[in-house]
Amino acid sequence: MLSGLSTIAQGWARVRDPASTDQKQALKARIRRQLEQHQAVLVAHYYVDADIQDLAEETGGCVSDSLEMARFARDHAAQTLIVAGVRFMGETSKILSPHKRVIMPDLEATCSLDLGCDAAEFTAFCDAHPERTVVVYANTSAAVKARADWMVTSSIGLDIVAHLHAQGKKILWAPDKHLGTYIQEKTGADMLLWQGSCLVHDEFKGLELELLRQEHPEAKVLVHPESPAAVVAQADVVGSTSQLIRAAQTLDATTFIVATDMGLLHKMGQAAPGKYFIAAPTAGNSATCKSCAQCPWMAMNSLQSLADALESGANEITMDADIGRRAVVCIDRMLDFAAQRKANVRPGADLAKEQALFTGIGPA
Ligand code: SF4
Repeated sequence: MLSGLSTIAQGWARVRDPASTDQKQALKARIRRQLEQHQAVLVAHYYVDADIQDLAEETGGCVSDSLEMARFARDHAAQTLIVAGVRFMGETSKILSPHKRVIMPDLEATCSLDLGCDAAEFTAFCDAHPERTVVVYANTSAAVKARADWMVTSSIGLDIVAHLHAQGKKILWAPDKHLGTYIQEKTGADMLLWQGSCLVHDEFKGLELELLRQEHPEAKVLVHPESPAAVVAQADVVGSTSQLIRAAQTLDATTFIVATDMGLLHKMGQAAPGKYFIAAPTAGNSATCKSCAQCPWMAMNSLQSLADALESGANEITMDADIGRRAVVCIDRMLDFAAQRKANVRPGADLAKEQALFTGIGPA
C-alpha cells in the first residue's frame, strides 16, 4: 500500500477561554439579531460547542453530520450561510451554493485529515494509478475534491464503495486510513489507501476500551469508523454521527460507551433522554484524564467568534471558480446517490432496516 506523504506538522488551534453564563446570554442575543439582520441561517456540526448547536436549532438552522449540513445549506432559501464546523464544511457549502455568501466563525479551524492530504501530492498519487476510481472523504480541501470521481461522508461511504465494487471498479481512497480499512474489510473492494487519520479518533485505545467494557458489561459500544481497528472490532454499532445517535435512541440499552468526539454526547443526551453515555478512553489507566476526545479545531467555534464573524462580515469562504466547478461533480454524485438510497427506505423503518443503508453491500 502506498502512503500519503503529507503531514499535519503545520496544524495548530486557538481556543478561547469559556464565556460566563451572562456573557453567553449576551452573545446569543447578538447572534440572533445578526442572523435576522443578514437573513442568515446557522448550520452547525454535532462536534461544536453545545450552545452553538442549541442556537442553530432555536433559530431555524440545523445541527447535523457533514452530509446533512451540505444538503441543508444547499436547499435552504437563505442567501447567507454561517457554517459552524471546520473549513472543509464551509468550502463544501460554497461549492454547492456558489452564489451564496458562506461565513465561518474561524477560517483557520481545519482538520487533520484535510491538512494531511496536500492537493499536489494527492494529484501525483492519482496520476500514478489512472486505472482506479478516486473516492475521497468529505474531510478534504476543494482542490482534492476537484481531482476525485466521488466524495463520500462516513454515513454513506460504505454503500458507495460497495456500489463501485459491484461494478468491478478498483478504488483509490483518501485520506482516512481507518475508515478506508473498515470499508475495505466490509466490502472486499480493491482499495489503495492514503495514510491519513483523524487526530481525535486515532487516540481511542483498544485495550482500555476492553477494560472499560468489563466495568460496564451492560453497555453497548458505539464507534465512529475513523477509529482504529482494535476499537472498531469491539463495536455494537459502527456508524456516522447521525447513525450513532439513531443507535442510541433505538437500541435496547441504557448505557453506551461512545468512541467519537465528545461534542456528540450533547445531541445524544437530547435525542435519548434517560440514557447514560460514557466517553471511550483515549488514555491509559495511569493517565489523569481518561478521555480527551475533543477536536481542537471544532473547539475554535465559539459564541464569541460566531458573533464577531457575523458582525464584521469577515471570514467569508471564497472559492476558485474552476476548482469549484470540478469539485461539485463528485459531491453531486454522492448527493444523487444518497437521494436515491433514501427513496428506497420505507418510512418508519427500524434501526435494523436503516442500517441496511450503511451495511448493505451491492449495487444501488
Ligand atoms: S474530529 Fe477529526 S475528522 Fe473531525 S474535524 Fe476534527 S480532526 Fe477532522
